[in-house]
Amino acid sequence: MTFNATIPLYDSMYPATDFSSLSWLEQQWVAWYVRIGSPILATSIMSFLLHEFVYFGRAIPWIIIDSMPYFRKWKLQPKKVPTAAEQWECTKQVLISHFTIELPLIGLFQPTAEALGMKTYHVPFPAWQTMIPQIFLFFCFEDFFHFVAHQALHYGPLYRHIHKIHHKYSAPFGLAAEYAHPAEVFILGAGTILGPLIYCYFTTNLHIFTVYIWIVLRLFQAIDAHSGYDFPWSLHNIIPFWSGAEHHDFHHMAFTNNFSTSFRWWDMICGTDTKYREYRAKVRAAKEAMKNASEDDVKILEQKLMDEVEAEGIRAEAEAERGGPIEKTVKVQ
Ligand SMILES: [Zn+2]
Ligand SMILES: [Zn+2]
Repeated sequence: MTFNATIPLYDSMYPATDFSSLSWLEQQWVAWYVRIGSPILATSIMSFLLHEFVYFGRAIPWIIIDSMPYFRKWKLQPKKVPTAAEQWECTKQVLISHFTIELPLIGLFQPTAEALGMKTYHVPFPAWQTMIPQIFLFFCFEDFFHFVAHQALHYGPLYRHIHKIHHKYSAPFGLAAEYAHPAEVFILGAGTILGPLIYCYFTTNLHIFTVYIWIVLRLFQAIDAHSGYDFPWSLHNIIPFWSGAEHHDFHHMAFTNNFSTSFRWWDMICGTDTKYREYRAKVRAAKEAMKNASEDDVKILEQKLMDEVEAEGIRAEAEAERGGPIEKTVKVQ
């Protein structure tokens, strides 16, 4: 692609820019903004397309994995494999939410971001040394925000009217990451977007390219956490404080504990992972005790432990919906 400096848009948007010094990606970036002509519109279209491609693109491998029995041995709740009909139903709901909630919000986000001084059409992109700490900060902000807001969503009225939809699947799958009430998409989505906006407000040193990398990583995190699979090479086996599917799947199965998204530390510090750790300890002890038993017997026992946790979860959900404990029947002797 050649750049013609006589075109007025190049002059007004990129004065004194040496295009030959730009990387291929930066050149495509310039070409896109010049082609659309309006930075706000160009950023809005790109943001929406990025989200769609990454969300569904990342979910596709999990759909394939769900269709292959070979992978069942790494499924966290092996008895609960989503059917094609369930996946399609979920896709439709997610698409409705993307077009009716996310699209208008993106329209609001872009002018806000620009008003706060976020760089959009500008080139070159920031250096990796600048981007990495910023992205890490956004991860930490979102994780804490989600930890607090998610627990609030488990409070009676909020659960009943909003968060119950996301808990439709006690064994989640990749596509279900954003299967939620529009208000939840708005509330929890704020955790992803507010970090960059607040950072930008205080520093005015943020490029939307960095925000895009953050959003791509956050989407990978959310979809993988809902995948329902735990492999020996899953990230939490390498980085012990990473949450991953092994952590969030329990939240769906047990309806309680593990409220954070990316990291395990807040649940650990605040004691909202005790049931999860008890369950893991029981599974480990059962496997240890059944070292010489057949694989099938071990699986049966594991399933029994899962069923117990899920039964307790059903009761906990009923309590959350009522907004208080369910009274036990007292037998008068
Ligand atoms: Zn929840
Ligand atoms: Zn979830």
